[in-house]
Amino acid sequence: MVAYRYLGNSGFKVSEITYGNWVTHASQVDDDDAIATVHAALDAGITTFDTADAYANLAAEEVLGRALSGQRRESLEIFTKVYFPTGPKGPNDTGLSRKHVLESINGSLRRLGTDYVDLYQAHRFDAETPLEETFQAFADIVRQGKALYIGVSEWTAEQLREGHALARELGVQLVSNQPQYSMLWRVIEGRVVPASQELGISQIVWSPMAQGVLSGKYAPGGAVPEGSRATDRRGGAKFIESFLRDDVLAAVQRLRPIAEQAGLTMPQLAIAWVLQNANVASALVGASRPEQLAETVRASGIKLDADTLAAIDDALGDAVFADPEHTYSMAPETRLA
Ligand code: NDP
Repeated sequence: MVAYRYLGNSGFKVSEITYGNWVTHASQVDDDDAIATVHAALDAGITTFDTADAYANLAAEEVLGRALSGQRRESLEIFTKVYFPTGPKGPNDTGLSRKHVLESINGSLRRLGTDYVDLYQAHRFDAETPLEETFQAFADIVRQGKALYIGVSEWTAEQLREGHALARELGVQLVSNQPQYSMLWRVIEGRVVPASQELGISQIVWSPMAQGVLSGKYAPGGAVPEGSRATDRRGGAKFIESFLRDDVLAAVQRLRPIAEQAGLTMPQLAIAWVLQNANVASALVGASRPEQLAETVRASGIKLDADTLAAIDDALGDAVFADPEHTYSMAPETRLA
C-alpha cells in the first residue's frame, strides 16, 4: 500500500504517490481507459489526485470527477489549479485576478462533482495581478469552504516567501509548491527546497519519470514506442520532446543495471529517487494505462542507499539539469494569454 506524508507543516496527509491527469484524460487516452486507470490508482492505494482547469481545456477535470464519483469523499484528496487560459480564453479567462480565481473555483467544483477541493493551486505566478488580490481571493475561497488548503506551482523561492507571508496574514495555509523534479531535472534543489523547508512548504513534484523517459523505454537513436507519449499528437509529443535527446537517452540506459541491483524496475527507481528528498510530500505521476500504476506504486516506502544514489549521479553525469536560475523560466514575467 502507499505511504502517506504530511503536506507542509499542516496536519493534512497525502499519499506519497499522487495520480495526475495532464495530457492523458480527455486527450491521449479515451474515457473508458481514463476511468479504469483512476480505479487502478484507487486499488493500488493512491487516494490523492491532481488535475487543473486548463488540462484539455476544462475537460480533464470532468473525466476525473466522473471517475471518482461514488467514492467516499473524505477518503480522497483532490487537487486542482487555476492560472492558464481556459474556455474561450478571453481577457479574464486567465491569470490570478479575483474575478478569474473566484469564477474558476466554481467551475472546477462543478466539473469535479464535489463541494470542495482539498488543495487549490496557483498554476504559475501571475506578474500582472497584485499578490494581495490573489491571496485575498484564495482566503475567501477557503472561508467559503470551497478549498481547504492553498498551494502554488513553479514559484521561485522569493515568490514563495511573499505568498507565505500574505497567507499567514490572512489566516490561510500555503502548504505546497508543485515544481518539476526528477533525476534529470533538479533545479529546485538550489533555492526552492531550502526556502520551502524554512517556510514549512512541501513539494508535490511533477513528471518524476521525466514523462516516461526514465522508464528506459525510449532508446537512443531508435524509433519511439507506439502508443507512448512521444507519439501523442494531441499534446504529449510536444511536451516530451526536450528530453528525447540521444545523450539523455543514453545516460538513462546506464541506470538499468543500477535499478536491477536495487531490485527495482526503472519506473520504480525514478519514483523512489524523488521520494528520498524529505521536502517532497508526493511524487505526482501520470499513467496512460492501469498496469503502469500497479508498477510505480511499488516505489512507495523504498529507501535507496548512498551507493545507489552515487551510482545514479555517475550514470547520468551531464544529462542532469540543476541550474536554479531555470525556475524563473517556468514563472512567466507576463501572463500567458
Ligand atoms: P510522469 O513523469 O510520471 O510521466 C507519466 C507518463 O510516463 C505516463 O503517462 C506514461 O506515458 C509513462 N509511464 C508511466 N508509467 C510507466 C511505466 N511503468 N512504464 C513505462 N512508461 C510509463 O509524469 P507526467 O509528466 O505525466 O506528470 C504527472 C502529473 O504532474 C500530471 O498529470 C499533472 O498532474 C502534473 N503536472 C503538473 C505541471 C504543473 O505545471 N504544475 C506540469 C506537468 C505535469 P505513455 O504511456 O504515454 O508513454
